[in-house]
Amino acid sequence: MTSELGTDDSRRRASRPGRYSCPVTRIESSGSLVRAEIDEAALRANAETLAGRLSPARLKCIVKANAYGHGIDIVAGSLFAAGWREFGVATIPEALALREILGESAVISAWLHGPETDFAPAVGAGIEIGVSTLACLDSVRDAARRAGRGARVHLKVDSGLGRNGFSPADFDDALHRLEEIAAGPVPGASGAPGASSPTGIEIVGIMSHFAVADEPERAETAEQVAVFDSARRRLRAVLTAASGRLGDPDRLDIHIANSPAALTLDPLPGTSARVGLALYGLSPLEGRTPADLGLRPVMRLVSEVVNLKHVPAGHGASYGLTYTTEHDTRFALVPGGYGDGIPRAASNRAEVAIRGRRYPVVGRIAMDQMVIDVGEGAVDLGDEVVILGPGGPSADEWATWSDTINYEIVTRISARVDRTPLPPGTR
Ligand SMILES: *Cc1c(COP(=O)(O)O)cnc(C)c1O
Repeated sequence: MTSELGTDDSRRRASRPGRYSCPVTRIESSGSLVRAEIDEAALRANAETLAGRLSPARLKCIVKANAYGHGIDIVAGSLFAAGWREFGVATIPEALALREILGESAVISAWLHGPETDFAPAVGAGIEIGVSTLACLDSVRDAARRAGRGARVHLKVDSGLGRNGFSPADFDDALHRLEEIAAGPVPGASGAPGASSPTGIEIVGIMSHFAVADEPERAETAEQVAVFDSARRRLRAVLTAASGRLGDPDRLDIHIANSPAALTLDPLPGTSARVGLALYGLSPLEGRTPADLGLRPVMRLVSEVVNLKHVPAGHGASYGLTYTTEHDTRFALVPGGYGDGIPRAASNRAEVAIRGRRYPVVGRIAMDQMVIDVGEGAVDLGDEVVILGPGGPSADEWATWSDTINYEIVTRISARVDRTPLPPGTR
């Protein structure tokens, strides 16, 4: 049994370069007091469930922000080993780090850049680039020339979110620029060394992002789909007229859906969907639990009781003494505070679980630790404390306690916390 596990583990390690080091946040397994256990079986099951819903559209696994706090090396490595090939992150540094983890055969895209971003390393590493401005389009072309490799581009359209992407008017300018590029001199002929596409640029996709897909009754989602579809048709016409010099109009990757859209829209618009939150087993929909959606939470944040003491009635707890005991009771001290990403705003509201029972967090959550009033409960020094996830409070409960959303609760888990793969068969 032990040797079987050992073999399995070494095989998995060999197939996932960099799995136990994290270039994004440089997390090592250091023996941190607070640990995030990552349930790879749940992650893979969520990916299967979501891909089934999306089909025939493809799943793009969104792993930005250290895989929503879950640890990009474990998450992306595990999904890649299970056969998933398409990944998205926000920024070029995230994309380059992911390329290191996954190797050449993963399809990686990034869509948030600054005016000074140098795209040459990304083009050289085969990163697909989401482009939202004319200046960015020009900069990517220049990078392709310098990198000696064709740049793969997804044009990003603002279909109503009012965030990134070309506005409909600016999109017209982008299409004109593409027509000029297609009509212009072939860079290969004028000295661009080895660029793989005749213009140095290949439009491989068109993308947009929804504003209110988590509120299925709202009309704006259909309006965004209409704006996006019109942009797609115009792009397609330009690519067709360019007869292959800007990419294949029939192979355009069309993507607008995020988690809430993937879980609510039928039919789903596009050829793929960019899914983040739902992959991690969390629900983007108000009033619907992960279980309602067939998803399993992937993260379990645990700590342990490191001090346990009797305190009399009238005793305060933590900075500011914002909580005072009513009776004789016992305080359990639990490592875990805002330095670990646990929201201080949940002070005097949150609960944790010890041996399957809930206890209140009393007084202010500090940088490193919090105080739990365990009364006469069956609690010992060294007991495991479930702060978040299966067996304890959900990310949704933490979100309510701290006036935020489940996305933020997991993403803010800090670099001090070790992410460790859950041993197989544990849950
Ligand atoms: C973060 C992000 C996503 C994923 O959104 P979820 O709601 O987590 O699925 C998709 N697209 C873009 C552009 C994003 O920034």
